[in-house]
This record gives sequence, C-alpha cells and structure tokens, in this order.
Amino acid sequence: MARDMNRPSRSVGAGIGVSFEFFPPKTAEMETSLWEAVTRLAPLAPNFVSVTYGAGGSTRERTHATVSRIVRETPLKPAAHLTCVAATREEVDDVIRSYRAAGVRHIVALRGDPVGGVGSTFSPHPGGYETSTALVAGIRRVGNFEVTVSAYPERHPESPSLDADLDVLEAKIDAGATRAITQFFFDNAHYLRYLEKARARGINIPILPGIVPVLNFKQTASFAKKTGASVPRWLADRFEGLDDDPATRRLIAAAVAAEQVLDLVDEGVEDFHFYTMNRADLVYAICHLLGVRPRALAGVQS
Ligand code: FAD
Repeated sequence: MARDMNRPSRSVGAGIGVSFEFFPPKTAEMETSLWEAVTRLAPLAPNFVSVTYGAGGSTRERTHATVSRIVRETPLKPAAHLTCVAATREEVDDVIRSYRAAGVRHIVALRGDPVGGVGSTFSPHPGGYETSTALVAGIRRVGNFEVTVSAYPERHPESPSLDADLDVLEAKIDAGATRAITQFFFDNAHYLRYLEKARARGINIPILPGIVPVLNFKQTASFAKKTGASVPRWLADRFEGLDDDPATRRLIAAAVAAEQVLDLVDEGVEDFHFYTMNRADLVYAICHLLGVRPRALAGVQS
C-alpha cells in the first residue's frame, strides 16, 4: 500500500515532457488524417514533433511540405528527419538549407536504411555522407540546428554489440548531437539497461524512449523483426486470438502502452517520444494518463 502511494506514476503531470513523430502523407486522405492527428495532439504542447524522411525526391518533398505546414499553421516546433541515403553531400546540404529557409531549427539525423532494404549492406552514395556521424557534423556545418540522433537499446541489427552502438552514439554526440530517441522496445529492461550503460560511459544527453502503440500486432511484430526490436512472448499472448476483434485489440493496446509508460515513470523517466503512426487517439489517451493535458494554444488551425 505504502509503495503504491509513493510511486511517481501516482502523481504524474508536472515534469513530464512528450514529443510526437509523424510520417509524411502520400495521399489527400492520408493528409487529412495526419492533420487531424496534429490538430488533436498540438494542444498537449509537445516539446517538438518530428516528421520522418525517405530516400527519393517525392518523399523528400513530402517531408519538406509537412514540416513547412507545421511551421506555418501551428505553434509546434517541428524536427525534420534527414538521412544520408541516395544523395550527394551537396544534395543533402541543399535539403538542410531548405529546412532552414522553411523555419525548421531541429533535425533528426540518421544514416538511413540500405537502398536494397533492411538486411542488405549499406553502401554510402558516391559523394554522399557516409555515416550518421558525418551527417551530424555536416548539419552543424551548414546551419545552427539542434540535432537529434537515434539510439538502439537492443542494438542496431548491423551492430556487433551494444558497446559498438554506444561508441557510435558517442561519436554522434562528439559531432554535435544533443538528444537521442530510441528505437521502439516493449520490454523496459532493455531501455533501462541501455540507459545505465550510456550513463556509466559519461553519455549525459537526453535519451528519449521511443514508444509505439500496438495498433496492429501482426504488423508491429513484423516491423520489429526488421529493426532488431524483440517481441516478448507475453506481448504476443496478450494479442492472441484478437485478429478479428479490433475493438478489444484497441483496449489491449491502450493497456499495454499504459503499463509500459507508467512503469518507466516509476523508473524515473520524464520524457517520452511517441511513434504516432499519424493517429492521435491512443497517444492522446496515454498522454492523459501521464498527466499531460491540453493547454490553450494560439495558432492551431484545423
Ligand atoms: P547509426 O547510428 O548510423 O548506426 C547504424 C549502424 O552503422 C550501426 O551498426 C552502427 O554501429 C554503424 N555505424 C554508424 N556510424 C558508424 C561509424 N562512424 N563507424 C562505424 N560504424 C558506424 N529511417 C529513415 O529512412 N527515415 C527516417 O525518418 C527514420 N527515422 C528514424 C527515427 C528513429 C528515432 C530511429 C531509431 C530510426 C529511424 N530510421 C529512419 C531508421 C534508421 O535510418 C535505420 O535504423 C538505419 O539502419 C540506421 O540509421 P541510424 O542513423 O539510426 O544508425
């Protein structure tokens, strides 16, 4: 009883920070649902919202259009993702300058996946940035941006060990990164162990846990396999038999995410990054549980 009363998750609210990740929409319909999600989540006053990036001209333009619209139409601070894939340094530098011209001051810098897909070998584009570390340095050279990078609590699938990954995180910080967001994970022990190892090495930047609400278990499990995130047996058991029961699945998804974030709060975590999949409802509910409530914001247009 006494333990319950003293749990930080029993008095959340003050001090909890959130950020939200979106992907750029491909169709007018997807644009509408993205914007509905942005409009619903914006009053929660996130520290920033980030927009993912893909290789290839059209997806680059979609990221640019989305972050520009966020700058123009909301009080939110967007972070534009950027990768080294399929572009020369000059082309990437042009994208960095175009973000700056659009009013973006924060970039999430990533190496990106190999052109042949996850599992194939990454070869840098001839004349391109070779690693995420080089990209971070390039961004800092081109403009005065805040730079966030990735972190992998269960190690990156191409990395030989967690220590090798932490070496890379250190290199990215030395190059100018000031924040990391983790790949999603389901077992908090992975994140807490990673954090402990990072802190023991003197890595002191914020390392935000990336939280993914499981809207579709099969899809999430197959994505997790590619990214190296493990799917615990207990999680599969919770969704078992619900393939044709989306209503119950949603309730389970909410319960699973709630348990995960509240447990992290009890472990002292105060900042959370949500992979929203451009859907607001579940993330909004989890934020509510965290004590993050709407504030009146000027400039949010629906
Ligand atoms: P890195 O930190 O670059 O590490 C990748 C691998 O390369 C590791 O094995 C590492 O050990 C090795 N490595 C890196 N630098 C060096 C070096 N200097 N010397 C030796 N080895 C090195 N992908 C997209 O395409 N678009 C996105 O918008 C996007 N957003 C993401 C957001 C987050 C929060 C995360 C966690 C991932 C995201 N990804 C995105 C996926 C990411 O691009 C892939 O996981 C990619 O395979 C690795 O890029 P990275 O920058 O995360 O990894």
